[in-house]
Amino acid sequence: MPIRILPPVTINRIAAGEVIERPASALKELVENSIDAGADNIEITVNNGGRNLISVTDNGSGMNREDLELSVERHATSKLVDDDLFNIVNFGFRGEALPSIGSVGRLTIISRAKGSDDAWMIKVDGGEKSELEPASIKNGTRIELRDLFFATPARLKFLKTERTELMHIIDTVKRLAMAHPHIAFSVNADGREVLKFKNEQKDLLDADLNRLAAIMGAEFAENAMHVNAERGGIKLHGYAAVPTFNRGTSTEQYIFVNNRPVKDRLLLGAIRGAYQDFLARDRHPVLSLFLEVPPEEVDVNVHPAKSEVRFRDANSVRGLIVGALKNALAEAGHRASTKVAADAISAFTPHIMPIPQAITNRANSAGFTEPSSSYRSFRNPSYPANFSASPALFGNIEPFLKPLEQSEKNEELKNFPLGAACAQINATYIVAQTGDGIVIVDQHAAHERLVYEKMKVRLGKEGIKTQKLLIPEIVDMDASDIARLISARDELVKIGLVFDIFGENGIIVNEIPALLGDTNVKSLMRDLADDLSEFGEILSISEKLEHICGTMACHGSVRAGRKLNIEEMNALLREMEATPHSGQCNHGRPTYIELKFSDVEKLFGRK
Ligand code: ADP
Ligand code: MG
Repeated sequence: MPIRILPPVTINRIAAGEVIERPASALKELVENSIDAGADNIEITVNNGGRNLISVTDNGSGMNREDLELSVERHATSKLVDDDLFNIVNFGFRGEALPSIGSVGRLTIISRAKGSDDAWMIKVDGGEKSELEPASIKNGTRIELRDLFFATPARLKFLKTERTELMHIIDTVKRLAMAHPHIAFSVNADGREVLKFKNEQKDLLDADLNRLAAIMGAEFAENAMHVNAERGGIKLHGYAAVPTFNRGTSTEQYIFVNNRPVKDRLLLGAIRGAYQDFLARDRHPVLSLFLEVPPEEVDVNVHPAKSEVRFRDANSVRGLIVGALKNALAEAGHRASTKVAADAISAFTPHIMPIPQAITNRANSAGFTEPSSSYRSFRNPSYPANFSASPALFGNIEPFLKPLEQSEKNEELKNFPLGAACAQINATYIVAQTGDGIVIVDQHAAHERLVYEKMKVRLGKEGIKTQKLLIPEIVDMDASDIARLISARDELVKIGLVFDIFGENGIIVNEIPALLGDTNVKSLMRDLADDLSEFGEILSISEKLEHICGTMACHGSVRAGRKLNIEEMNALLREMEATPHSGQCNHGRPTYIELKFSDVEKLFGRK
């Protein structure tokens, strides 16, 4: 076959193949155009997950007759200032969206330019362009896209269910709405209003937070830390939830570069790095962050869908994000998520047990007889029938020997946010009384955090004391784990872990950090090898060290099940108050929960 230049419709369909993957991507292009046009109200209608209809109506600048005609031509754009690809201030710049969409669906555009009296309409049907016709619209632009992909049946087959496509549409609008709190958005799907965000006043300081609360829920806003930082002309702001407010997937991480929603690996990696001290590997923080980068510092033209970006100085962007998040986490200190307290309260719902009818009847007719055995087990459902309250039962509760004198101590307790220890329950939880409530501490989680923070400080300052093992421990391992540990040996020795290769399939451990006390060395080494394989390539040395400290701390802390006396408990509480990040353990679980007396009163119906 001879070489030939492809016809325009084919070229447009190829472009559509890159950018318009599904209804949501077409919608994204249309809404971005409305935002670029300066609209402050954008109304969206979709039918059948966007397959049959996507319509976007805005009150932006609109287009005059000539512009409308050009807008559906390939590479026609009003947005590329001086043809400079490194100074991109709008969402669009490629001039491809409308012609691409028009080549794979049935597109109708009605628009009226600001200040003009007449409106015009143009249609592009599977690449077939119509003549301009007079039309009517109050202001701005309305675009209707029907029968998406009717011209490319192969793509149509790849669409998921209508529900899934609608989910993508909603996610797309949420992301765009998040970055533009001053624009009102609504989405109507198959006749039902599924999203509605009113426009936040421009002069309101917390417009951003209000919009975030509208999108991510009030609970996010309550648990969010403000993030604000700047370095070398790059700015970062936004909100990130405290670690205890986490999710099983990273879908609730919204990142924007110059207000453009992106899903960028470098940025996601930075977030993971900042939170890794506080979250288990399979948990993810919830956040919404906005990076402002001078246009010449970032290339948004990496991918036609513009969801990936490239930074000129990727390291400093990463550093800025990690630093800012860590600062925010440090300031949040021992604040745990409000969700935890709310969960606790709902777990404490009062329980009223009815007396079965049969029992009261019998008691009435035959006087007080010995209750039947079924009644006994009903009365004490979790105890055996011959239950009696023996002192042994209370062996798991260590009461505080000198109870506090209520009124005189309340004042004093105000100085101690975690209060005075009253009891230890099940050799696992410390119960303490504060000035205005009750605190329950998970002793293992709390101690783990303390050991970890201590390790980090010592690592920075005097270096870590080691303890020689009386009998060196030999740990069996496979070759790749051994190789990983050996390659990190210099760093591990610095924090007090001295070991060597032993035979073919093992290592021998001679010294461990003294801080760890009596530890299961075998499982410690295996966990460390896992850490190294997981984080091996992505993390810097200092980040790796922090993670390793976390793993060690977990091995070196007070186990659940160890009895503590009241002095030990109070010492732990005081140490928690003085230690940064003590509100969550290294795995993002809370270390304590707090019930205010006012909540307790609610539970008992006193208020
Ligand atoms: P790009 O956005 O990359 O410029 P598009 O194909 O998306 O390319 O749009 C082409 C042009 O049509 C835009 O540059 C803009 O001038 C005009 N346009 C598109 N949508 C609208 C709208 N909703 N309001 C006003 N002008 C629009
Ligand atoms: Mg565009």
